Amino acid sequence: MEINFEQLINLQNIDEKIKDISHFLDSIPSQLQGIEKKITDSAQIVARAKAVLLQNQKKRRDLESYVQDKKVVIAKYRKQLNDVQTNKEYTSFLKEIGNVDLEIETMEEEIISEMLSADDLEAEIMTAEKKAAEIKDTFLKEKDLVLKKEKEREGLKNQLTKEREALIPAIPSDQMALYKNIFRKTSGTALSPVTDDFCSLCQIRIRPQVLNELIARQEIILCENCGRILYWKPKK
Ligand SMILES: [Zn+2]
Repeated sequence: MEINFEQLINLQNIDEKIKDISHFLDSIPSQLQGIEKKITDSAQIVARAKAVLLQNQKKRRDLESYVQDKKVVIAKYRKQLNDVQTNKEYTSFLKEIGNVDLEIETMEEEIISEMLSADDLEAEIMTAEKKAAEIKDTFLKEKDLVLKKEKEREGLKNQLTKEREALIPAIPSDQMALYKNIFRKTSGTALSPVTDDFCSLCQIRIRPQVLNELIARQEIILCENCGRILYWKPKK
């Protein structure tokens, strides 16, 4: 009886498609993770810049309050200056006032420098926020696309699975068992067409006798090299 290779070829085609779809579906969690990571990374850049700005503002407040305290000290010294009795005391107070004045001057310079850094930081935050919003927008669209593809492929996989189930009763059980076994061993390609005189999957040459048997289609012949089910596929 002539072997109906068409059913096996159909099965192989369906199984290959299902395999590709499954492979794609398996990769979806990592695709989504990659997208989420890009979003959180850009949000982190903003958060870090904001933290630096907060530090800057705190330092400025501390310096300002320190300067305030020093100004109170100077006012007190100036008041005491009126009451001093000796030149020595007077000179000593003046020196002290001079020292504190110098300290205030240094702090005020530092405050200005912190203010300038704050301007830079604010600009940096604005740029980072804009970029983060753009990235989020782009990646959310990408995520939608991935989820849409996932839905499509799942639908397709269900459809193919139904087609496969409908096909199986037409295939003799011994052929089915052989097919399944080779499919597993070859990780997904149990059939190999022979067009000239080569196994198209492992490229080994087919002996003329075997070639004749293939053309006769009376029995299942396995490739001597790769073990796949060979079938004759004449050139169009
Ligand atoms: Zn082969």
